[in-house]
Amino acid sequence: MFLSLRSCKASACAVKESLLSFMATKSRFQAIRGTRDLLPPETALWNRVEETAREVFCTFGFGEIRPPIFEPTELFARAVGGDTDIVSKEMYTFEDRDESSTSLRPEATASVCRAYIEHGMQQLPLPVKLYYIGPMFRRERPQKGRYRQFYQIGAEVLGGSDAPAIDAEVIEMVMTFFDRLQLPGAQLEINSIGHNADNCRRGYVTQLKSALEKVKDKLGADSQRRIETNPLRVLDSKLEHEQPIIATLPKIADHLCDECKTHYAAVKHQLEMRGVLYRENWRLVRGLDYYMRTTFEITAAGLGSQNAVCGGGRYDGLVELLGGPPTKGIGFAIGEDRLILSLQEAGKVPTVAGRDVYIAWMGEHAHATAIRAAKTLRSAGISVELPPTEQKFGKALERASKLNSRYALILGDNEVAEGSWTLKTLADGTQQKVTEPELLEFLKRHRD
Ligand code: AMP
Repeated sequence: MFLSLRSCKASACAVKESLLSFMATKSRFQAIRGTRDLLPPETALWNRVEETAREVFCTFGFGEIRPPIFEPTELFARAVGGDTDIVSKEMYTFEDRDESSTSLRPEATASVCRAYIEHGMQQLPLPVKLYYIGPMFRRERPQKGRYRQFYQIGAEVLGGSDAPAIDAEVIEMVMTFFDRLQLPGAQLEINSIGHNADNCRRGYVTQLKSALEKVKDKLGADSQRRIETNPLRVLDSKLEHEQPIIATLPKIADHLCDECKTHYAAVKHQLEMRGVLYRENWRLVRGLDYYMRTTFEITAAGLGSQNAVCGGGRYDGLVELLGGPPTKGIGFAIGEDRLILSLQEAGKVPTVAGRDVYIAWMGEHAHATAIRAAKTLRSAGISVELPPTEQKFGKALERASKLNSRYALILGDNEVAEGSWTLKTLADGTQQKVTEPELLEFLKRHRD
């Protein structure tokens, strides 16, 4: 990332000033509010979740895309919508060297569509099925399950048709993934928000708006504002006192055109054929025009108020809106942080990873042999801790236990000279003599 010379000088001054005040107050650096370090052993769970996503998505024919984490601000303004909180308040935006406005991505669907157009992917066998895993950035008020840097695992199906089987298969894929992870209390809700171009949603929104005008005084400030900017989003409101009012509003299901009704019924039938359990929720909406028909959300247990772990829907107009050819599209984004939180709440916490073998070596010859043995064992996939300096055997065994090692390999110059090494099982203290090839064989046989 390059900044202009002027801003470089200004920022160099700012850096110097903040460093001086930092030193004066002797404060310590801390991660910025809303961001956090992911540390072992928790990262083992993150890796397992991501590996499972890759495995499951691969069985559905999806390939990975890794778009950049910053893009032109205009891309997000167009794709996510200039009126949305995400774009109007929450983006991390800066001016790049050429003074073009650039933003850290608040989501990745826009990037995937941009890449689809940029690489002419409509020439590929359709539909193109892509998934991504990575950090997103939104300046939201941090709380449990809500961060300013958070991670999403998402997938998009672009091109092809709007066959209800595609919607159902995408949903089946997410549910298979959650099943594989044994996510507690995964609950799928679906809805159809109709089709704008066919007028069924436009007609509904007009009715919704006039119904909202009548109860405007009873609504909170956000909902009042949304009557004008985005009436569908009022249905999303979580405010306690608005709930009975929202319950009386017109429902989209009563306004769907025949085509949308048929599509929705077919999606439900397709889900049933796949054994995917769902609940209908007429209040599930997406606030932007190009979202159409299928929308879905998945909640999980143990998350309090921020319990949505996945949101998705059909967006047939988006690629065209970004300057590409008319393209069907459907996708979802999973909040990985929340997914992990829910798994942790259910007790799926990885234990601190230990070592298979701790090599307690003493003496110059033993060190050379230890280095060679470590290399052989590691290349067979066995984890080895090799202390960098000589330790007394007592100390070495103490450290081996602290590191939760399964075995200690005791190597003194005598053992090396005789070619007979000592392997100690730390759990029961038993010892055995082994030759170098026997060691490898033994460890391979006694793998977990
Ligand atoms: P969205 O892109 O807003 O549809 O969100 C999709 C999913 O991403 C949500 O269901 C959440 O699980 C997750 N998510 C959205 N915003 C945040 C955030 N600030 N912190 C953590 N997870 C988030």
